[in-house]
Amino acid sequence: VEPAGVVLRDHAVVVAADSILAVAPHAEAAAAYPDAEVVDLRGHIVIPGLVNAHTHAAMTLLRGFADDLALLEWLQDRIWPTEQKAVTDAFVADGTTAACWEMLTGGTTSFADMYLFPGSAIAAAASAGVRINAGLAYLTVPTAYAATEQEYLSRGLEVHQQWRDHPLVSFSLAPHATYSTTPQSMTRIRALCDEHRLGVHTHLQETQEQVDGECREFGMTGVQRLLAVDALGPGFFGAHGVHLDDRDIEVLAHTGSSVVHCPSSNLKLASGFAPVARLLAAGVNVALGTDGAASNNRLDMWQEMRTAAVLAKAVAGDPAAVPAHSALRMATMGGAAALGLADRVGSLVPGKQADIVSVAVDSPASQPVYDPASHLVYVLGREAVRNVWVAGRHLVRDGYCTTVDGAAVSASARAWADRVRSL
Ligand SMILES: [Zn+2]
Repeated sequence: VEPAGVVLRDHAVVVAADSILAVAPHAEAAAAYPDAEVVDLRGHIVIPGLVNAHTHAAMTLLRGFADDLALLEWLQDRIWPTEQKAVTDAFVADGTTAACWEMLTGGTTSFADMYLFPGSAIAAAASAGVRINAGLAYLTVPTAYAATEQEYLSRGLEVHQQWRDHPLVSFSLAPHATYSTTPQSMTRIRALCDEHRLGVHTHLQETQEQVDGECREFGMTGVQRLLAVDALGPGFFGAHGVHLDDRDIEVLAHTGSSVVHCPSSNLKLASGFAPVARLLAAGVNVALGTDGAASNNRLDMWQEMRTAAVLAKAVAGDPAAVPAHSALRMATMGGAAALGLADRVGSLVPGKQADIVSVAVDSPASQPVYDPASHLVYVLGREAVRNVWVAGRHLVRDGYCTTVDGAAVSASARAWADRVRSL
């Protein structure tokens, strides 16, 4: 991933404590560090941990609860009424733990979360050992979590105060979407982010209906409204960005903002096709996200890489659009940059955090290998992930997660599903 497009054969990654010390040919590393503990990964591809830049982790407990509906119907008739009754601190704790189990074993080492009760999500992620960028919900509608905009803010800032020094935790301010953010709330974003050093994570121009409604009500697209209040910039990442016009794309590019492409969710909810090739050509940083398990229904970054690469070609009418290396970059450095972590994760270079994934290339469907990057995007899936380290901790060993009790997660997910069914 860094340097871009380079494959290093027969190399070793040398890790000390939580960081990468060196990346060197194996023989050289063995000579320089003779006392090091060695994990033999012959026959594996070693990559940076994947970054899921947009999800609602706790919604894993609603996986498969409401399928085959349009976004608005799905949200208003099924998801929101159920959330209003079911979502508590305990729901978020259990749902996020389930999500961390799924993501970790699939090679995702960082995720950007947007949900209610962020304190419980952070505690679950920290316990699993996954890196979380917690979106502090900033809504104008009452939920089970908070009643007023001020209460959302004060609860969020309390959580921020409690966790801001944790090495695996970073924060964003998370208005649900631009169309649902009032002009008054919009104008506060810049000052809040400056004061508390937060990024901004929001749903951005996901459906044409939303864009039309926002233009009717406010006279501008979401991107233009954000620009008008100076809320764009390198700390901003907008999820989806499906319906962006040329002016929106130009603004995102020149402000250094990021778009999180969520191809599976966009396809399943029939939201449309994000202009990924145009975004990349304009110089916009593009990350990848799964969205929540209620609209995907997998928290599987391998599926997103492959779908992003093949879909972009069809949308652009160009088979050269989003080549394999580019899809891999979106799932690693693209996400790291969106989350403000580009100097810490997203690639395997000395000085960065040791967030590392090893993938076995030994299945019947994976032979032969000409280009490892091509295999990562077009051939392999999350079942090929064997080992995962986050900050140097070996969290997945030979396919098994060492920090999450899978049997307990399955039992609690079944109990929550019974509860949701009975509502
Ligand atoms: Zn979403």
